[in-house]
Amino acid sequence: MYEKRERPTVKQKKLLYTGKAKSVYHTDVKGTLIVEFRDDITAFDGGRKDTLKNKGSYNAGVSAFFFSRLEKNGVKTHFLEMLDGNRMAVRELSMIPLEVIVRNLAAGSIVRNYPFREGMALKPPVIVIDYKDDSRHDPMLNDDLIVALKLATPAELRKIKAIALKINTILSTLLAKQGITLVDFKLEFGRQGKTIYLGDEISMDSMRLWDKKTGESLDKDVYRFNKGDVMTTYNRVAARITNKAKPTASKKKAAAPKTASKRTR
Ligand code: C5P
Repeated sequence: MYEKRERPTVKQKKLLYTGKAKSVYHTDVKGTLIVEFRDDITAFDGGRKDTLKNKGSYNAGVSAFFFSRLEKNGVKTHFLEMLDGNRMAVRELSMIPLEVIVRNLAAGSIVRNYPFREGMALKPPVIVIDYKDDSRHDPMLNDDLIVALKLATPAELRKIKAIALKINTILSTLLAKQGITLVDFKLEFGRQGKTIYLGDEISMDSMRLWDKKTGESLDKDVYRFNKGDVMTTYNRVAARITNKAKPTASKKKAAAPKTASKRTR
């Protein structure tokens, strides 16, 4: 599913940080951390919480798959290697407290806060940047505020937006081959020296994905809005995304019954 890099396996040491769905650990290798994707799921600023068996492994697998694809396309990410189903070794970054959201179709908070119709195409894509601060409910920033708060320089901000749009093109194309529309997604970046890397995760928790044929939600909205069984959705979509990008068109040729596909996750 992802390519392992040639490097010694790292040993997990002390806990560095616990977030809502991931934990970060020190390791015995300088400059390398371990991110553990836990089975916890939250929504509405942590107002709703559950623990769902295997959820962490689905998000870890999809994130690793996307990070590997992005690296192949020249995007620098923190991903080094998967250690097991839930844990990945990553480059240690100094994180920039920004949530960079790229939107291709109007959905979620942009529909609640502005007069956009749900599903309206946003061309060119809209980038929204929020301040990552739960206690302030992640307020939206603008370029002047980001520079005034010294969160990033104007040059870094230009770079971050360019990387975010490049990621959007790569992931939209990849997902379209699986019959999935990338509606929107959130990215987080960090620095190592002067270099900016993509950090955090890209998973069903941080993307909005719609089935191209049925319009069905294939992401955390299933949990947020009780649209069905979230683990069934995550299991299916993780398999669909990481299934070596077999285009959906090939299904027509085979006209095989749905049960014919072997899925192990
Ligand atoms: O809620 P909103 O519509 O602003 O979310 C836009 C996108 O960013 C969604 O895909 C959502 O899952 C993601 N997001 C996130 N973490 C946040 C806020 C939004 O992953 N804290």
